[in-house]
Amino acid sequence: AIEIHNATKSYGDKTVLKGVDLTVEAGTVTVILGPSGSGKSTLLRAINHLEQLDEGYVALNGELIGVRVQGDRLKERREKDILRQRAKIGFVFQNFNLFSHLTVLDNVSEAPVSQGAKLKEAREHARGLLTRVGLADKESAYPRQLSGGQQQRVAIARALALEPEVILFDEPTSALDPELVGEVLQVIRGLAGLGKTLIVVTHEIGFAREVADQVVFVDGGVIVEQGSPADVLSNPRHQRTRDFLDKVL
Ligand code: ATP
Ligand code: MG
Repeated sequence: AIEIHNATKSYGDKTVLKGVDLTVEAGTVTVILGPSGSGKSTLLRAINHLEQLDEGYVALNGELIGVRVQGDRLKERREKDILRQRAKIGFVFQNFNLFSHLTVLDNVSEAPVSQGAKLKEAREHARGLLTRVGLADKESAYPRQLSGGQQQRVAIARALALEPEVILFDEPTSALDPELVGEVLQVIRGLAGLGKTLIVVTHEIGFAREVADQVVFVDGGVIVEQGSPADVLSNPRHQRTRDFLDKVL
């Protein structure tokens, strides 16, 4: 499980996360919704330690991610530790963030190779992942030769390359033309079926309804409402949730 406790983060005098508590059980899908600027990306980035919290912590299977809060008796974790932990948590970005100078195959095998895997084995594994996302025939292409949906599927294959337990998705379809959204959601749905732990920031309500075990509505750096898709999406208890859903539906 992932446990987020009292996650608090400010930029200057603006507090972006105001003590977020959230538990994500292994093998479940959590969808995070909320208005622009509500802190969704900051929360995801904190899970992966791309962002350091001012207060609170994130733990994966009972192990703290990154550096302990101030005043804690444990010392700072070494950079090596953070890299090892990050390998357990894949991240898929809104804008794909592929390496433009690398082929599709090299994009997917890059991380394992840089962490010491044998080239031949890393490539074999990468080919399997590309097959899984439906892109076996594109291994020699460069990112610019692919559609947005294909690029995002490569990014998902890349996120899988280190065999993470958890995959974080930050609005994975919001940069895509509408006709390409479905193919990416289909791949994410497939990962849910394989029992991966997924946390997905998305405004695709249909996807959330169908795939999420838990839906979390964030506004102003706090969790306003959380529960099953049926509760949060069909019977929201808070006016702020209702107003937001009226806008995105
Ligand atoms: P969106 O839906 O637009 O992606 P979000 O919910 O993901 O929004 P965040 O990106 O987490 O929101 O940002 C929350 C707030 O923190 C915003 O007001 C943003 O401007 C601010 N913020 C985020 N990152 C930084 C940073 N590195 N420096 C300063 N302010 C930041
Ligand atoms: Mg964001």
